[in-house]
Amino acid sequence: MKNCPFCSPDVHNSVFARSDNFLAIYNIAPVLPGHSLIIPKKHIESILVLTEAEMLEMTLFAGKVTRLLLHVFKSDGFNWSIQDSEAAGQSLAHLHVHIIPRLNGDLPKPGDWYPLIQNNYSEILDSQKRQRLSISQMQKIVTCLREEASQMGLFHN
Ligand SMILES: [Zn+2]
Repeated sequence: MKNCPFCSPDVHNSVFARSDNFLAIYNIAPVLPGHSLIIPKKHIESILVLTEAEMLEMTLFAGKVTRLLLHVFKSDGFNWSIQDSEAAGQSLAHLHVHIIPRLNGDLPKPGDWYPLIQNNYSEILDSQKRQRLSISQMQKIVTCLREEASQMGLFHN
C-alpha cells in the first residue's frame, strides 16, 4: 500500500528471515537491542483477517525468530506485542508483532518497554528524536542475523 513503510521496497534492507508469507525485520530505531518485527508480506491490517494456516505460520515463524534473537543477543527473556486497531494504539496500519529480547535489569521496571514502543512509531515515521541506527550499524546487525537465520533454515527466497 502506498505510503506504508512496511510495503516499501526499502524494507528489504532490514529483512533477516522469511517464511512463505511473513518477514522478520530489524527495527531501525530499536527500543532495546534485538528489537525486531514480524510482518506479513501482504498489506494486512489486523491479525483477525489471517487464515488459520497463516496464523499458525506466523506464530511458528515468530517463535523461531525469537529463539534466534535470544541466542544472538544472549537474552534472559522477551516481550511479544501486537497493537491491533487504533483503539489499542496501532499507529501503523500493517500488522506487526514486536519481538523485544530482554536482559535482567535492562530497564528500571520490566514493563517500561511499552511507552517506549508507543513513542517508537512517530519516530520511525517522521522524526529523528529517537536515535536511529546508522546504515552501517544496521547492515552489520542484519548481516549477522541473516547468517544465523540461514543456519536455522529461516532464510529462503
Ligand atoms: Zn503495508
